[in-house]
Amino acid sequence: MADKLRKTPAPPSAAQKALHKLGLVRDIDLALHLPLRYEDETRITPLRNARDGEVAQIEATVTASEVQLRPRRMLKVVVDDGTGTCELTFFSFYPSHQKTLAVGARLRIRGEVKGGFWGRQMLHPQFRVAGGELPAALTPVYPTTAGLAQPYLRRAVVSALQRADLSETLPPGLEPPVGRFMGKNGVQGAFSLREALTFLHHPAPDVALATLEDHSHPAWQRLKAEELLAQQLSQQQSRRARDRLRAPVLRARHGEAVPLHEQLLAVLPFGLTAAQRRVGEEIAADLGRPVPMHRLLQGDVGSGKTVVSALAACLAMDAGWQCALMAPTEILAGQHFAKMVGWLEPLLAARGRRVAWLAGGQKKKERAAMLALVESGEAALVVGTHAVIQEQVRFKNLALAIVDEQHRFGVAQRLELRRKLEAHGMEPHMLMMSATPIPRTLAMSYYADLDVSVIDELPPGRTPIVTRLIADSRKDEVIARIGAQVAAGRQVYWVCPLIEESEALDLSNATATHQELSEALPGVMVGLLHSRMPAAEKKAVMALFSAGQMGVLVSTTVIEVGVDVPNASLMVIEHAERFGLSQLHQLRGRVGRGAAASACVLLYATNDSGRVGETAKERLRAMQETNDGFEIARRDLEIRGPGEFLGARQSGDALLRFADLATDTHLLEWARATAPLMLDRHPQWAERHVARWLGGRSDYLKA
Ligand code: ADP
Ligand code: MG
Repeated sequence: MADKLRKTPAPPSAAQKALHKLGLVRDIDLALHLPLRYEDETRITPLRNARDGEVAQIEATVTASEVQLRPRRMLKVVVDDGTGTCELTFFSFYPSHQKTLAVGARLRIRGEVKGGFWGRQMLHPQFRVAGGELPAALTPVYPTTAGLAQPYLRRAVVSALQRADLSETLPPGLEPPVGRFMGKNGVQGAFSLREALTFLHHPAPDVALATLEDHSHPAWQRLKAEELLAQQLSQQQSRRARDRLRAPVLRARHGEAVPLHEQLLAVLPFGLTAAQRRVGEEIAADLGRPVPMHRLLQGDVGSGKTVVSALAACLAMDAGWQCALMAPTEILAGQHFAKMVGWLEPLLAARGRRVAWLAGGQKKKERAAMLALVESGEAALVVGTHAVIQEQVRFKNLALAIVDEQHRFGVAQRLELRRKLEAHGMEPHMLMMSATPIPRTLAMSYYADLDVSVIDELPPGRTPIVTRLIADSRKDEVIARIGAQVAAGRQVYWVCPLIEESEALDLSNATATHQELSEALPGVMVGLLHSRMPAAEKKAVMALFSAGQMGVLVSTTVIEVGVDVPNASLMVIEHAERFGLSQLHQLRGRVGRGAAASACVLLYATNDSGRVGETAKERLRAMQETNDGFEIARRDLEIRGPGEFLGARQSGDALLRFADLATDTHLLEWARATAPLMLDRHPQWAERHVARWLGGRSDYLKA
């Protein structure tokens, strides 16, 4: 009823819609929408002094104005300011423009000056009637979008700056370590938030522009510190909230029977590395506490994360609880399933329990049977893809959720998993695994709410992978080398690049390569694997390759994660320049898993002059220089920014807008140290700070 009486608000204008599209909803959003660059409209330049190539603002009188029709229709205007003349050219113009630009009119004109003393010109300059005061500050140019003109945006920012609550949220005594500025009275001071924002939107013309451009100006530093603090506060808040939740206590029972994890250790064909033992203990300690674990298990490809997760699962299963193991692709999940069944089913069978499988490509009947096992609790371990978190999947008592290649899953999916123990009033423990080493600064910022365990050692007996960069003009030689490898009983991966714009192109590429290799290598079984293939077909191809019958496997990036075929000793990556370094490192980790000497060939594209090839080669050289995943990740972060590492963990919204983790480490460290103090001593300030900076988006930083 009341709804009917309420006046419907006026429909939003195009400009308002555009503002929303940019996420500029609240006054504070506009206040924090900072300029990309600035224009100097504070001065009038005499034409005599205007230099070729410079943007200048002049005031001059129109001495000629005419429409020419050849070589095409254009408006030519000549202006004179008493020190010189300039010709203005407009290819598109309206009658109203002609009126303003009529002979005798005095105008203020701004544009890029071309030519010198003998004939200055401006193409499509901005112009308006002369007069009015010159602004005292530089004019901001904002990031914008279609339908949102700069003048509108500028006015919106100015009024938002006046309205927005910019009161301090940094308590006295907790100021950030940022540069100071010289106040009007000659006293050095620190920027308050209001002062910093006012300055950045409308800087004084004498500012060193370079310090605004590279964000090293104290006003920028102040904002970056605030942003990083908001991120830290939000993550530490969510960690504290989690510490108040309950989780099942999972501890090995001593007594009658041999614990499951000890039984597993006894049947493994290898002993654990020291690093595996250490992280195993870290995880076990977490699982023994009544608070949900959120731990990230990092370890380079091949470092042996799977067995560590299996041992953790044993602790839960032994205590009568269930575990889930989720992987992003059906192939990877399938490999985990096979491994878990091999290791654990004999042991579980003695306890009347088993391992269940859940995946999208499953037959209805099989799925129903699996769901029943999960619900009854007979399935002690459930392995699968995203299918594991679907609503119909009801666990009897999920105590530990393991997520492999965690960066491929989104926040929503992790939240889904966390809800699976809701009926018991608890949350399951979470173990997230990743082979992409996360550089330290990233771990400190985006992953601040997680505990991290690192396996920093490979199992013994691995031979280092030799990486070679080869121009794709020498592809034939590489193919010949494949022939020799296969003849020697080894197996080869050939990876075709991902073409982002088009999956279809991807496919035709892979298919063509498959054909080419099949023809060039008579007598060798060459298989093809790509993302569009039906699951059953993928499985069949993988089975042939795993069994060693297939010599060469051509694939798009589906093998990127997790595939484990120790006999494969050569990997060729085509168009390696299209991959990120960390991605290449992951791919490369698919070989060198057995005792044989292994190699990775990075083919890079060359054009006729070979120049594109050279820059690509430069970047790829890192792959040759080091096998250290952390070092490669660090270089990747420098080259490509954090987006690549975070993957689905973060929505773009929650990415840092101002701070740069490569240069702002000291601010990050300050924020990390300050957040807990603020939460303890000034909780209301912390609350206000997070609300101001993250608004409704703080959820994205959690889970
Ligand atoms: P990732 O960390 O990349 O997931 P995996 O868990 O797939 O690595 O392990 C890679 C290979 O190493 C597997 O074949 C696994 O059985 C084997 N492995 C794991 N731990 C050890 C170890 N301590 N000694 C020898 N081999 C091991
Ligand atoms: Mg793995």
